[in-house]
Amino acid sequence: MTFITRFAPSPTGPLHLGHAYSALLAFDMARAVQGRFLLRIEDTDAARCTPAFEAQTYDDLAWLGLTWETPVLRQSDTTAAYDAAITQLGDMGLLYPCSCTRGDIRRAVSAPQEGTPLLGPDGLVYPGICRHRAWQDRTDTDAVRLNMAKALNSLEDIPQYIETGCHPALRLTRAQLEQEIGDVVLARRDTKTAAYHLSVVVDDAAQGITHVIRGEDLASATPIHVLLQTLLGLPTPIYHHHRLIRDAAGKRLAKRDDARAIALYRAEGATPADIRAMVGL
Ligand code: GLU
Repeated sequence: MTFITRFAPSPTGPLHLGHAYSALLAFDMARAVQGRFLLRIEDTDAARCTPAFEAQTYDDLAWLGLTWETPVLRQSDTTAAYDAAITQLGDMGLLYPCSCTRGDIRRAVSAPQEGTPLLGPDGLVYPGICRHRAWQDRTDTDAVRLNMAKALNSLEDIPQYIETGCHPALRLTRAQLEQEIGDVVLARRDTKTAAYHLSVVVDDAAQGITHVIRGEDLASATPIHVLLQTLLGLPTPIYHHHRLIRDAAGKRLAKRDDARAIALYRAEGATPADIRAMVGL
């Protein structure tokens, strides 16, 4: 089996040292076994992604010494595949439309009888306000949610996965998946585009990814991805979640930390070897 991995940035800001580490690690791991390294531009959030950041992403990655196969998969070009996956899960009776705003959800979970609101990988765990709605009644202004309880009931076992990175695979029980992750959004209300969990699963399968190498901030989303793969009949890759690059105060880097942008280090005369050294490669 050929090892195929990918780096999947969202062009919503400049690449920083954390991205450089992720991309270089995936590239190095692929090269070590004569595997393939692919790039994917995760640009479904049209309001935050810009052509300038996308161009800067290619430029920074090439400067770091990375090469990748073309054409590059851009999520904004592949929406039909996400729609097909939504139709598939909808036909299985596992989805429902949801018109809740963030405010609706906040208010519902902070009602006194609800106890302490639970935080899942996507923020507040959805309290199920729209769960009674029929899939057929979906309108243009609705988001799409997975009915987690129904999805789990449609499977004999909870799907498992192999993790080779910095912490063991998460083995969540049915109750944990229902109560701590809940009915995740698969298509968004604001942009009417596929949400992250769905697009990443559809694309990893379309690109034949055998090894997902990404930061450990995404480890908690992996049980959702593996569940979606199983429901959609797609293969589950091996996962390798790596340590995060942190600033001097121990906080993980975010795109808004422009001070750590690769572009700034470049402008100051750093070399790709300096960047490798800075991230411990
Ligand atoms: N697009 C995601 C990000 O920039 C990464 C998705 C993934 O690697 O699964 O954080």
